[in-house]
Amino acid sequence: MRGKVYLVGAGFGGPEHLTLKALRVLEVAEVVLHDRLVHPGVLALAKGELVPVGKEGYGEKTPQEAITERLVALAREGRVVARLKGGDPMVFGRGGEEVLALKRAGIALEVVPGVTSPVGALSALGLPLTYRGLARSFAVATGHDPTLPLPHADTLVLLMPLHALGGLKERLLERFSPKTPLALLARVGWPGETVRLGQVGDLPGLGEGLPSPALLVVGEVVGLYGEILGNSGP
Ligand code: SAH
Repeated sequence: MRGKVYLVGAGFGGPEHLTLKALRVLEVAEVVLHDRLVHPGVLALAKGELVPVGKEGYGEKTPQEAITERLVALAREGRVVARLKGGDPMVFGRGGEEVLALKRAGIALEVVPGVTSPVGALSALGLPLTYRGLARSFAVATGHDPTLPLPHADTLVLLMPLHALGGLKERLLERFSPKTPLALLARVGWPGETVRLGQVGDLPGLGEGLPSPALLVVGEVVGLYGEILGNSGP
């Protein structure tokens, strides 16, 4: 039997945001190699053996070669393998590296998209990224290294920002006024979900004690978030 690897996006939160295809793959995969950013409710849907690997998204070095070698070896044994990643596998998830390594090894591969956190986590909270007259572009970047310049867009979404809020404030002030509205969204769709609203000038204090993973959103559209979250119903 020929093995195959499915590179699967688990979405940013609980199992309700999984695609039907991801669910189908979780039901047939014999082995599931997953990141820590995969919600337990998603893992519970897997029928095969669960193997936790790496801790992506927090800046630690992931033994990426070891993961790809393992995927290749399992596929060569004829196993059907799911490589399950938080959000979408192609957004800050080393998906590109794994696709290249598997292609180079001649392994059959299919990528299953997932709902990525910088879009889906906001959407699930009812929060817009664009808004007519306020924001007609958004950019997604990693906030991991605050010495690097930020992209230009009306709305900025920064991933992995929590350990770097002081440095990010300096970068943001090169682009935005200290009064520009800002949101920190932590653990969206997970227990401990927390939203904090403020302004660029409130960094780094606004992030104190916030659990990870978290997103930082900046731009005029964020000025609408207070009203949206305040009116979110009974
Ligand atoms: N591939 C993932 C991103 C991996 S990088 C995706 O497409 O979403 C990990 C970063 O994603 C975290 O540091 C955080 O910034 C963000 N993130 C992922 N899930 C999140 C969640 N449920 N709530 C808030 N931020 C999240």
